[in-house]
Amino acid sequence: MTYEPSTMNTIRSHFPILSQTVNGKPLVYFDNGATAQKPQVVIDAINELHSSLNGNIHRGIHYMAEQCTERYEAARETVRAYINAAKSHEVIFTAGTTAGINLVAFSFGEKYVTAGDEIITTEMEHHSNVVPWQMLCNRKGATLKVLPFADSGELRVDLLSSLISPKTKLVTVTQISNVLGTINPIAEIVKIAHARHIPVLVDGAQGAQHGGVDVQQTGCDFYVFSGHKIYGPTGIGVLYAKEKLLEEMPPYQGGGDMVKTVSFAKTTYADLPYKFEAGTANYIGAIGLGAAISFINSLNKKELRKQEQTLLQHATAQLRAIDGINIYGNASNKAGLVSFSMERIHHLDVAQILDKLGVAVRSGTLCAEPVMQHYGLTGMVRASFAFYNTIEEINVWVEGLKRVKSMM
Ligand code: PMP
Repeated sequence: MTYEPSTMNTIRSHFPILSQTVNGKPLVYFDNGATAQKPQVVIDAINELHSSLNGNIHRGIHYMAEQCTERYEAARETVRAYINAAKSHEVIFTAGTTAGINLVAFSFGEKYVTAGDEIITTEMEHHSNVVPWQMLCNRKGATLKVLPFADSGELRVDLLSSLISPKTKLVTVTQISNVLGTINPIAEIVKIAHARHIPVLVDGAQGAQHGGVDVQQTGCDFYVFSGHKIYGPTGIGVLYAKEKLLEEMPPYQGGGDMVKTVSFAKTTYADLPYKFEAGTANYIGAIGLGAAISFINSLNKKELRKQEQTLLQHATAQLRAIDGINIYGNASNKAGLVSFSMERIHHLDVAQILDKLGVAVRSGTLCAEPVMQHYGLTGMVRASFAFYNTIEEINVWVEGLKRVKSMM
């Protein structure tokens, strides 16, 4: 199947949820940054497993267990190819971005971080890429340093070198800000950190949705993302890490499937990737994620990106034409989302009125309080677009905003 941008209905017809009405109005779904909707092939893959093929992986030798195992490992290979990892055992299935970052913060932290060390994060991170590092620093007596961003929404990469010290153990940065939309120059950041022999973790929660990544080309040491943001199921995600690091890092959780032998005297751990996949894995989620990636691969990626940029440009121009709207994040390299505030109108009121009109947007701190603090705000409204959104939907949303303004 190939995607033809001229026939938006073709792409939308793969997503059954999009054709419903909400509050009596046709749904306009602009909360793709929080979670993206699922194509029928993903829904079907999950249904098929639950209705006719469910068997726990890596254990039973019966037909269904073997089928699920095979498909689970095939999904790992699909993920490997999607992010261009060198080896499939560098792909660890997790519960999501948050789970992946916590895994690294604990396991990498246990191995390499001691009192007095430093971790560098940035001012534009989601809480998921702040709190696990704060917890690690508190445990170890280490310090969390913060690379700031400019008011334009661009990261001050020029300051990174001076922030790095002999005590720095890791740099962690988002590929795309979930508030500002900024697409960060990951390869450049990796280059600066690697020049000082410091590994880099990239939070790909938004990046995996808007364009993906080539982990070998960027050179990052860790890359994490969530299935539900790239049209796959919830409760599944991926941690990519370089083999050498994964070999050196201790397991994060203990349990079934992550061991070779167990006795009360001594336990030996399984090889990669299983060392980091304790307990029954979310194999149905992983297979669903594989189906989502195969769906994305069947589309014309260039056209998808073009569509998102068209939506972004139209949305930005429309917002700029309304008095009293402030847009946050005007980076020259920006993904398809717009965060904004309306003067003298609370962000929750905006989202609530839009909801009555069938338009789903996000409001609040967007899980990024430091970004709110940067602008002195308590919250924003965010519209985040996916390739299945349309110009017509943006027009409905903009009319809704005009109505909010006149009502309030
Ligand atoms: N990082 C970023 C940049 C995000 O946008 C999100 C989700 N909003 C997360 C991390 C956390 O993802 P999850 O809740 O799927 O673990």
